[in-house]
Amino acid sequence: MDNAVTLNLGDDGFLVATMDLPGRTMNVVGDALMAGLAEAAERLATDPAVKGLILASAKADFCAGGDLDNMFTWTRPEQPFEASMAMKKVLRRLETTGKPVVAALNGHTLGGGLEIALACHARLALDDPRLKIGQPEVKLGLLPGGGGTQRLPRLLGMQPALQIMAEGNDLTPQKALGMGLLASLAKDRDELMAQARAWCLANPKSQQPWDAPKFRWPGGDSRTPAALQMFSIAPSIASAKSFGNYPAVQHILSCVFEGGLMDFDNACVVESRYFAACAMSRESKNMIGTLWFQLNAIKKGASRPAGVPAAKVRKLGILGAGMMGAGIAYVSAKAGIEVVLLDTSDEAAAKGKAYSQGLLDKAIKKGRSTPDKRDALLAKITPTTDYALLQGCDLVIEAVFEDRAIKAEVTKRAEAQLAAGAVFASNTSTLPITGLAQASGRPPHFIGLHFFSPVDKMPLVEIIVGAQTSDETLARGFDYVLQIGKTPIVVNDSRGFYTSRVFGTYVMEGIAMLAEGVHPRSIEVAGLQAGMPMPPLALQDEVSLSLGLHVAEQTKKDLAAEGKPYSEHPGMRVVRQLCEIGRIGKKAGKGFYDYSDDGKQLWPELATLYPVAAVQPDAQELVDRLMIAQANEAARCLEEGVLRSVADGNIGSIFGWGFAPFQGGALQYINAMGPAVFVERARVLALRFGPRFEPAAGVVRLAETGGRF
Ligand code: NAD
Repeated sequence: MDNAVTLNLGDDGFLVATMDLPGRTMNVVGDALMAGLAEAAERLATDPAVKGLILASAKADFCAGGDLDNMFTWTRPEQPFEASMAMKKVLRRLETTGKPVVAALNGHTLGGGLEIALACHARLALDDPRLKIGQPEVKLGLLPGGGGTQRLPRLLGMQPALQIMAEGNDLTPQKALGMGLLASLAKDRDELMAQARAWCLANPKSQQPWDAPKFRWPGGDSRTPAALQMFSIAPSIASAKSFGNYPAVQHILSCVFEGGLMDFDNACVVESRYFAACAMSRESKNMIGTLWFQLNAIKKGASRPAGVPAAKVRKLGILGAGMMGAGIAYVSAKAGIEVVLLDTSDEAAAKGKAYSQGLLDKAIKKGRSTPDKRDALLAKITPTTDYALLQGCDLVIEAVFEDRAIKAEVTKRAEAQLAAGAVFASNTSTLPITGLAQASGRPPHFIGLHFFSPVDKMPLVEIIVGAQTSDETLARGFDYVLQIGKTPIVVNDSRGFYTSRVFGTYVMEGIAMLAEGVHPRSIEVAGLQAGMPMPPLALQDEVSLSLGLHVAEQTKKDLAAEGKPYSEHPGMRVVRQLCEIGRIGKKAGKGFYDYSDDGKQLWPELATLYPVAAVQPDAQELVDRLMIAQANEAARCLEEGVLRSVADGNIGSIFGWGFAPFQGGALQYINAMGPAVFVERARVLALRFGPRFEPAAGVVRLAETGGRF
């Protein structure tokens, strides 16, 4: 096998070690890369002709992080511990030869990649704002285990280092330069290498600050009063945000605090222990499984019909320039697509386009865009009332009012302008796609593309396949979603599809608790403790109670027309009562909360309408109910074939409505608990709170066979 690191000794005596992991598009930290670096370090240490080392990359990135494929196979804590110690042994050798070592960062430098760069005496980078530098491990429940938790605070000080590691956000090269993480920036690769050589020449004898006999931590070590003060409150601040659901954050704090009490080498051993604790945690397994493996599988097209050639949308029509249409126009134009934005009046269409202008003006103010880029993007959006402009569109997305008759009319008018192969999509949030397709003259070309609000921020699009939607149409929809940089999940047609249906069980469970006499504050806290981004009552206020009621009434009517039974969720009684007295949610300034300029406050009269019971349930029971209700409904969706894959179920839940990421998604929640335990708990809840908790048949089967989703 080719070496992962090639070594070239220049006439100037500097060894250029170029990372180029064979068979991979990116350099990732694993045995092969570390073996190559070990060889480079050895040559540097032992060859008198070598005066210094420049670490570079032949890939588009410098190094993207750890090899998660390998990490995911670890089953015993010794494995992560030993892997982490082995990496540090190589890096220690690299930084302690006395000769200069410089990292030339030509692209993304993340996770283990940044840890390697930190073991160099200086880091130089291309001055490209797209280049990402950071320690994102925490986002997968891990921590930097290659010495990062020790080198970073010894270089920058505890507070900035903790921020980088505990939040996991990327830095731009400019920002990293300002913090002292980089020594300089270069305009291109040649200049980068020239600067690296110049640095080595200027620093022929190099040593890391932490190896200097008189080393002092920038800002002080863990014994200083400022550090003690910070560490006495930082864990509680972190817990207040995460409710203890993300142990990696606490472990990062511990690494820095304990590391600040001891020498570098001992601190590295402490770090490896905490790294092993993270790598073995249920949270990191959940997150790596879903947010890495399943997400990658989705992006590679696991849910896309194979055999249909990939296609790009060049011209897109959007019907309805309201909140959703305007957002879809923006994200599509941003991806380089020509957009026709149609509404019933010129004013409404222009207003839809102005939305993009607003977003871009804001981006310019923040230095994230330029007037030229804004104007180029705006030039791609044509506001109109004229259907003839839709000619030549590969795809039309309908985002008019949620009304069957209006949707039917615009479908017919648009289709009259379209070529035979063009796709027509509806962005409906509640109306079954197969029913809407009845207005179409070509139902195989009709599909659902369910966006989430605000469109420019939300990463997911739920693709809904109607009874007659063709594979080719699905593939076209899928390709378009990837084209605009969003993540597609594919579901079969059903009331509420997947996301709205399961999301609804979360808020309705919270509302049902209120009717039972659970204190509203306890309900809200339980939602946050469960790891949901917003508590249930506040969330229903945002969505609006009147919309919830309207959808329920519509469902009741539709089911009656189909001759099917309708069983009302116990929370619906509360929604109806509040709507009757005008408390329809945030948009009216009153719902479960009262809204004012000072913020929001739970409506005190809730206690009169729903008296608080003398005996309150255990907090964990509330958390379990909120999560089991969702997981069980997700499992039903899989059982009924609404969901087509487990990956779509998990990713859809996290990206669609913020299902607690540390759980790895609504179906992974069941795996992690164990299907047998889940069935047992669900049955107890069903006895007490009703048949909605009866475990889905698919989970019962898994429990019986010892299987997993
Ligand atoms: P909106 O009221 O903001 O916008 C609807 C737009 O459609 C208005 O500009 C209106 O003038 C226009 N319109 C109405 N009749 C028309 C016609 N005959 N021809 C052309 N334009 C017409 O509504 P919205 O929130 O953008 O929702 C639009 C669709 O997206 C609905 O089907 C809704 O269910 C769905 N949706 C909404 C959300 C959300 O969070 N708001 C999320 C997902 C899906």
